[in-house]
Amino acid sequence: ETFDIKRLIEEIFDQFENKADKKNIELILDTTQHEVLVYADWQRINQVLTNLISNAVKYSNDGGKVTVSFQTNKGTITTYIKDTGEGIPPEDVHRIFERFYRVDKSRSREKGGTGLGLAIVKHIMEGHRSKVEVKTTMGKGSVFSFKLPVGEADPLLED
Ligand code: ATP
Ligand code: MG
Repeated sequence: ETFDIKRLIEEIFDQFENKADKKNIELILDTTQHEVLVYADWQRINQVLTNLISNAVKYSNDGGKVTVSFQTNKGTITTYIKDTGEGIPPEDVHRIFERFYRVDKSRSREKGGTGLGLAIVKHIMEGHRSKVEVKTTMGKGSVFSFKLPVGEADPLLED
């Protein structure tokens, strides 16, 4: 199905508003586009974005920023979820998509969670014949991204 991923992100931001406010984290949707149509399974992409935005808020320090942006390229849209968090050590980054893998056992236990979020994200993106990528710098933050096909606007709904 085709849907507006910008609107989906706005809905997810609303759900994380309280958590973000408590840590004084700013949630930013960085786009000038009125809508961003993608072709994908809305419910599964909702889960992907919820997990990635949850992580971005959870692993960011007080006063941080979580920024979502898009890039369109030849029929595909890349969505970027960027945080100003602690980053992921290079020796762990290849393992974070494994089930139950958590970087700092004691610290992660404090923050709560099971270590399944990114394993689910990876699985869902494979189901969309896509993948999640991550770029991270210790002490600066991380950017997770994934590509989806551009959605076609329904001509019957145009005026
Ligand atoms: P769950 O998502 O099941 O509640 P979780 O957040 O610990 O638990 P994942 O989302 O799979 O599990 O993430 C795995 C690990 O990767 C986390 O425990 C954390 O150590 C690391 N991680 C994930 N996202 C980030 C991020 N944005 N910044 C820093 N570390 C991260
Ligand atoms: Mg998580």
